[in-house]
Amino acid sequence: MEGQLALADRMKLIKPSPTLAVNAKAKAMKAAGADILNFSVGEPDFDTPAHVCAAGKKAIDEGFTRYTAVPGIPELREAIAARYAADRGWQYEADQVQVCCGGKHGLYNMAQALFGPGDEVLIPTPYWVSYPPIVLLAGATPVFVPLDENENFDLTAENLSRCVTDRTRGIILNSPSNPTGAIFSARALAKVAQMALERGWVVISDDIYDTIVYEDVQLPHILNIEPKIKDQTIILNGVSKSFAMTGWRIGYSLGPRHVIAAMNKIQSQSTSNPASISQKAALAAVVGPQDFPGMMKQSFLPRRAFIVSQLTAIEGISCVNPSGAFYVFPNFSAYYGKKFKGKVITGSVDMSEYLLEESFLATVPGAAFGADEFVRFSFATSMDAIEEGMKRLREALGKLA
Ligand code: PMP
Ligand code: GLU
Repeated sequence: MEGQLALADRMKLIKPSPTLAVNAKAKAMKAAGADILNFSVGEPDFDTPAHVCAAGKKAIDEGFTRYTAVPGIPELREAIAARYAADRGWQYEADQVQVCCGGKHGLYNMAQALFGPGDEVLIPTPYWVSYPPIVLLAGATPVFVPLDENENFDLTAENLSRCVTDRTRGIILNSPSNPTGAIFSARALAKVAQMALERGWVVISDDIYDTIVYEDVQLPHILNIEPKIKDQTIILNGVSKSFAMTGWRIGYSLGPRHVIAAMNKIQSQSTSNPASISQKAALAAVVGPQDFPGMMKQSFLPRRAFIVSQLTAIEGISCVNPSGAFYVFPNFSAYYGKKFKGKVITGSVDMSEYLLEESFLATVPGAAFGADEFVRFSFATSMDAIEEGMKRLREALGKLA
């Protein structure tokens, strides 16, 4: 009998990814003819570079279509290590690199390899939607470290210290951040490194947006601030955002040999290896010209300036100027408690729903990121869409009383 089978208890722990759910709803409404402007899912609105696609096609034509080594083809792992050595000066060997099926999968492999029941994992909040579920699926407990909009969403020593217990096993850093676009200061990262060294924590550094940084300064990174932390750090990254390759599903992780070996064990018993064709395409991205992320960034710059100026011009809305990534995270809480046709907007979920139903604007409620005062807009969409979207937003908010 369909639908009657009992599901595992762990299914009570998680919900489907809210970013992907909103995106699916927006796409379905658009397919049904609605004039949707999609500010929801975070993916570059660029095509994968031609030389990367050509490498993928060549892999098919040459019959490179079989299983590969579990951690990824050696030339890709070597190329990733070489790129880090050249660009950042960090030394990793190929056996300290795992290639997997997207950045999200790297996070999953890492959590399965490192965390378990009784472990607490610090998650600066607002957080990316998949961190808590992935920690929960490993049987561990997410502990939310609050970040304050008035501090530009930087991590403070006081808030961090307040969340630490004897069970703390690690912390997940994401800088530039999804959803805030904020960058952690060198001071905050130095504090994390100091505490991690004293207490033996693992530091997870999700660097997936590290090529999209708007400030004219070098992105502070914990490995530069405290090189001793390298033996306790796992770097998570991938080509999804930097080379507009979200659909190819290639991520990679770098870290201590024994942790990567454990992650490989999990990969060998789950996905075997990332798609052979996608690995060849990712290799072309990693070894080829590196100007693509900078070109995307140049086109995001005027969009960022425009959307932030439009949002902050709306009465009651505050919005931190993002230092990286392609999201803005405005605070809409001044509008909570207001009504439209008798229905009260009680929080970010109602607000996002109102904007979708009334104005055909797809956004992601801040509640999905652990921060109900806010609503996330991705500005990886055309300037025309942003202009029209901001007009519709002003009109929608003007109808609330
Ligand atoms: N980390 C963060 C912060 C993200 O926003 C994303 C978005 N997709 C990922 C990891 C995973 O990227 P993917 O699995 O698409 O490579
Ligand atoms: N990371 C993107 C986002 O936050 C893609 C969706 C997802 O992977 O959840 O919108």
